[in-house]
Amino acid sequence: MNVRWLGWAGVEIEAQGASVVIDPLEDVRAVFAPLGEAAAGMAVPTVVAPSRTGGALAGLVTHLHRDHADAAALVAALAAGAPVLRPAPGGGGDLENLALAAAEHELAAAGLQQVVIEPWAVHEVGPFAITALPAADGLGDPQVSWLVEADGARVVHLGDTINHGYWWRMALRHGPFDLVLAPVNAARIRFPHRRPASPLPAALDPEQAAMACEILGARLAVPIHHDGYVVDGIYEPIADAGERFLAAAEGRPFAARLLRAGESLELAPVVAAA
Ligand SMILES: [Zn+2]
Repeated sequence: MNVRWLGWAGVEIEAQGASVVIDPLEDVRAVFAPLGEAAAGMAVPTVVAPSRTGGALAGLVTHLHRDHADAAALVAALAAGAPVLRPAPGGGGDLENLALAAAEHELAAAGLQQVVIEPWAVHEVGPFAITALPAADGLGDPQVSWLVEADGARVVHLGDTINHGYWWRMALRHGPFDLVLAPVNAARIRFPHRRPASPLPAALDPEQAAMACEILGARLAVPIHHDGYVVDGIYEPIADAGERFLAAAEGRPFAARLLRAGESLELAPVVAAA
């Protein structure tokens, strides 16, 4: 199995000549465009396109915030008719769902085939077994983590979850994991529809991410969702989150490494015990 980080939360996974993509992002400026002037000079992440276009068997979306659900990127990556696997809509009124509206609209307008996968449910496509795992979104929007299994290797993508208590159940049911892709930027968020704002991070911080990777039984951990967006007063991540994750992983029973956007790593198939 080959795993390629596309920058931000985007990941491309290949096995047996087939591929799936998770949270691919193409239009980095669209994410905070609704903020107008407030986001004009913001820092944005470096992203690259998947190595294959028009061939992925499925697009996995952890949640429908615009930095994780880019309809145009999914259309470019997916084979014709391939599904977009996603969590359920949020329910409630328009104000509750303000951070989901852009992606919901764009996914529907693109005519993508959307399939809701509930936590713990499995979807099989080609050589891949894809399982939605519980996650907790920092803004209370529906979010899942994705487990992708192929060739005896297991990769978990944690989206931009905050800390929660499902790590042990995830490990007990599906672990250990060959690779955990963990968010680490610990962004403090002040959005207009989530007031009063919480002072706590809306994504794992490096120390929480390292702890989660240990509980999950990661063999290797790679930080994602760092070195990207900064919007003063609205979206404020910590600095050097990737390096801080490597420091937090020191002395723990898993390896950790940083990838450059576009860099890939090969996971050797796990040999079954005789
Ligand atoms: Zn995010």
